[in-house]
Amino acid sequence: MSETRRYFLETFGCQMNILDSQLVTAQLHQLGLSSTDNFVDADVVLFNTCSVRQHAEDKVHARLGELKKHKQARPEMVVGVIGCMAEREKEGVFAKAPHVDLLCGPGELNQIPNLLREVWERNERVTALAGSLSRRTETLQRALEYDSLEALDLARAPSLEGNVLQSYVRVQRGCDKFCTYCVVPFTRGPERSRPPAHIVAEARQLVERGCRELTLLGQTVNSYVHQENGEPVRFAQLLEQLHAVEGLDRIRFVTSYPADWDEDIFRVLRDYPRVMPYLHIPAQSGSDRVLKRMKRGYTAASYRKLMDLARHYRPDVSLAGDVIVGFCGETDEEFRETIELVRAVEYQQLYIFRYSPRPGTAADRNLSDDISDDLKAARNAELLAVQSEIGRKLRQRWVGQSARVLVEGFSKAARKARGETKGALRSRGKASPTFRVPPSPRAASSSLADSLTAAGEVEELRDLPQSEQDRGSEVGRERSDQLVGRTEHDLLVHFDAPPEYIGAIVEVHIESATAQSLSGRVIGVVSAPRLARASLPVATESASRGSALPILQ
Ligand code: SF4
Repeated sequence: MSETRRYFLETFGCQMNILDSQLVTAQLHQLGLSSTDNFVDADVVLFNTCSVRQHAEDKVHARLGELKKHKQARPEMVVGVIGCMAEREKEGVFAKAPHVDLLCGPGELNQIPNLLREVWERNERVTALAGSLSRRTETLQRALEYDSLEALDLARAPSLEGNVLQSYVRVQRGCDKFCTYCVVPFTRGPERSRPPAHIVAEARQLVERGCRELTLLGQTVNSYVHQENGEPVRFAQLLEQLHAVEGLDRIRFVTSYPADWDEDIFRVLRDYPRVMPYLHIPAQSGSDRVLKRMKRGYTAASYRKLMDLARHYRPDVSLAGDVIVGFCGETDEEFRETIELVRAVEYQQLYIFRYSPRPGTAADRNLSDDISDDLKAARNAELLAVQSEIGRKLRQRWVGQSARVLVEGFSKAARKARGETKGALRSRGKASPTFRVPPSPRAASSSLADSLTAAGEVEELRDLPQSEQDRGSEVGRERSDQLVGRTEHDLLVHFDAPPEYIGAIVEVHIESATAQSLSGRVIGVVSAPRLARASLPVATESASRGSALPILQ
């Protein structure tokens, strides 16, 4: 065995999993382990898993299969399955993959160091599962569980996270909604909100390390409520507290639950400039009958009213949503109602998922998965085409305007031109650029889901023409200087600029648009990178309003 033990951690699923992996990574470093990009060399291999769709679980089992012969050759290698699939399948994982040594549910991740020590010392299988499938937690048990989960977030070590330009912070865990198709309440347990003081302290810590954009994570983030001195602190108030954190340029949050909306959040969106004009509020269907079968708790009309209200408070707001196609019994008419909703709302970004039944959910028990795979695929393709048309139209409106862009890094085309491997490119994908996920062929990325978005596989997005994933590969010429960033409205923008701009907020004149992204030319720097402190010219007021001021030639 090498002197320093090495770990390989691969993450599947949503942003919540990416954040969990960051926290686990910090624990592993504190244990003295270092990372490796290749699981063949690793002393500890961990898969942080997603259960929201069957496909996500199948991928993990395939990875475990690939690992089997390496474990046989090096029995001292510790193989662990952590996260939602561990919680859902429990010891069933051992039956399918006997070479697994460690199982740990998403509510028990703070126990990973102890679990590893136990495997090393006793050479026995270990498990840490909350048993939340039964959700029998007593008040005390719930409090204890809460404390240990809070300890995981509080133990965060931004100094181990490398570049933290954009970071996730968890504000809430679990979910109490029990939508009929969703496994999340079973794998992540009941809904709990973190104390605002802890969240603000974490934000300050991240800002000190260079964070400019924070994305708050919760399964139903807008339902956030924490009792303080007998008074509730709600999500709008949490946003106000975070807005006061000096040095924090952008605040986003995902994912919102339509039925729990509090109008105060719109007021914050209107009045607080560092709360970004972007809302991800999944509809899941445009049919009241389907929404009822899903037990979503709202109607298509009330959902549309909510979207109208969002635009009333903030007319320029960008809307993102999720839709499930092929849910149990979905008729053609019901699917048409969904298309109608998508056309009416005009999402900037839409995540489309084909329904797949999850064991233990009400839909799996009580409804029939009676839509054929072919029909699900056809509906998926039809909706993608509709969304592609909308996405292109909305982005075209930006052509000729300027937008403020937080420069995230090299574009996919540039990374390719610079010789990054295919695996590394995929592993970075849309994931937080702050997290150095070991390059792996299938590391996942996605938006956090209210539901199936949590499945988050990028395959759906790859179907989109000229998507973020595809764009780089269609550029024929060398683009080693092409950078990428996001506007305040969460639009992806490509532009040519030197790497010193990474971490800056720049003003970009938009010159062209596709269904998925914008391209343009930097016309000024609004704010130089915090950490690199490159001596860049700063845009004047007139530049930031979009007048021609070509500073950076
Ligand atoms: S879909 Fe969202 S709101 Fe519904 S149970 Fe799943 S996580 Fe909760």
